[in-house]
Amino acid sequence: MPVDQSRRSLLFGRKPAVKTAPIFRPPWAIEQFTEQCTRCGECLSACPSQIIVAGDGGFPEIDFSRGECTFCGECRDACQPKALSLIAEMAWAQHIEIASDCMAQQGVDCRVCGEMCDAKAIHFQLSLGRVAQPIIESDLCTGCGACVAPCPSAAIKMVQRQAQTMEA
Ligand code: SF4
Ligand code: SF4
Ligand code: SF4
Repeated sequence: MPVDQSRRSLLFGRKPAVKTAPIFRPPWAIEQFTEQCTRCGECLSACPSQIIVAGDGGFPEIDFSRGECTFCGECRDACQPKALSLIAEMAWAQHIEIASDCMAQQGVDCRVCGEMCDAKAIHFQLSLGRVAQPIIESDLCTGCGACVAPCPSAAIKMVQRQAQTMEA
């Protein structure tokens, strides 16, 4: 009988690997964010896009399935304890990746993400025998998330930048 992964872990004393989704804090979050944030919720009410939600432990997180960040700065202005602050020079350091679930990669003509991107960070490349494929220009991506929710195959994921190169 095959031994499943969790049983195998028990037998050999290893904990099963737990996959955790990355957490995206509101823009201009300082490095010691959870030390400074009082979980007052003011940034949630201030955000006109309503993309800030109370996450683990009540600390605010961005939920890009609800919409995009316009970098209006309302959340930052509402944050009295300065957990969101211009001390953090960049709004954040993140950009998108497109997984293979992408409709275009599956052979279906789709350009929704490119149409949503004001920063022109996604262009479509024609190639022989395939529908046009989305190409991300990471340097242009502001991490606003406007392309995330409209993607019909939920193929767009936000990821943290390795090197902090973005200015916003
Ligand atoms: S900058 Fe504006 S749109 Fe972006 S999370 Fe803050 S309040 Fe919302
Ligand atoms: S306004 Fe500032 S202190 Fe209050 S929950 Fe938002 S980030 Fe935390
Ligand atoms: S996150 Fe914003 S800037 Fe980046 S590709 Fe999507 S729409 Fe364009």
